[in-house]
Amino acid sequence: APHRRRLPKWLKRPMPSGEMAYTSQVVEDLNLETVCESAKCPNRTECWAHRTATFMILGNVCTRPCGFCSVPKGKTETVLEDEPERVAEAAARLGLEHVVITCVTRDDLRDGGAEHFYRCVLAVRERTGAAVEVLTSDFRGRRESISRVVESRPDVFNHNTETVPRLYHRVRRNAEYQRTLDLLKQVKDEAPEMPTKSGLMLGLGESMDEVLDVAADLRANGVEMLTLGQYLQPTQHHLPVERFVPPEEFDLLGEQCRQMGFSLVASGPFVRSSYHAGEMASVLGRE
Ligand code: SF4
Ligand code: SF4
Repeated sequence: APHRRRLPKWLKRPMPSGEMAYTSQVVEDLNLETVCESAKCPNRTECWAHRTATFMILGNVCTRPCGFCSVPKGKTETVLEDEPERVAEAAARLGLEHVVITCVTRDDLRDGGAEHFYRCVLAVRERTGAAVEVLTSDFRGRRESISRVVESRPDVFNHNTETVPRLYHRVRRNAEYQRTLDLLKQVKDEAPEMPTKSGLMLGLGESMDEVLDVAADLRANGVEMLTLGQYLQPTQHHLPVERFVPPEEFDLLGEQCRQMGFSLVASGPFVRSSYHAGEMASVLGRE
């Protein structure tokens, strides 16, 4: 359906509050990008009011054409040498204890931006002592790049599966399901004690059985933390929502996934990979 569908009542969110302004100001002053803004995240009012943001490094332009994502596509930006320090400064000003760093996919860079990612993690840790969670691209499966990010010793290594394999071509073109599983397995092989995390969006036309199959594959590759959330169409030019999954179904699915042996599952309409990431990590008891 080409029309945007009306949101069911469980998807209404609070109005912006004045407290968001502090976070906005920090992000703006330090000239940073956030996935909260670039991906038009529905939780922005809530997260920013709590002075939580997810930094998006390596520019605000992506080389991939994912049909669900509103991060701008096109000519990529120069990687700015001072970005690690600016991210660290923002984390310090916001008083973050758990910092999530994500990135656009940079297929134009030989290492996919891994060295820069490494520098950002180190800068944040040095400046703030905070726990750091990385939410990475797939680095085209380049093993050296993945290893480099592992070497920065993040407290959580997150890489999203996004959807079920049958829908990859439509939803996540230029990515490969097996490559995502391989990345997560590589991280676990190289750093067995490092919690790995992945997430899917629901409502893109997948069946519940397909989601459970993906969850089983993630478990088979050592993934410990899982996020399941409702896909929302960021603009009319993005993939339509096929279905609004009711909260009770998220609960049931979450329970089924827990029984598969995940240490932590967050499943609900507003769950995003970085939603309440600090709480999720601390429940895991490794911070
Ligand atoms: Fe930002 Fe993540 Fe919160 Fe969304 S859920 S507003 S991306 S921190
Ligand atoms: Fe968005 Fe990531 Fe896809 Fe780029 S690779 S379009 S940032 S989801």
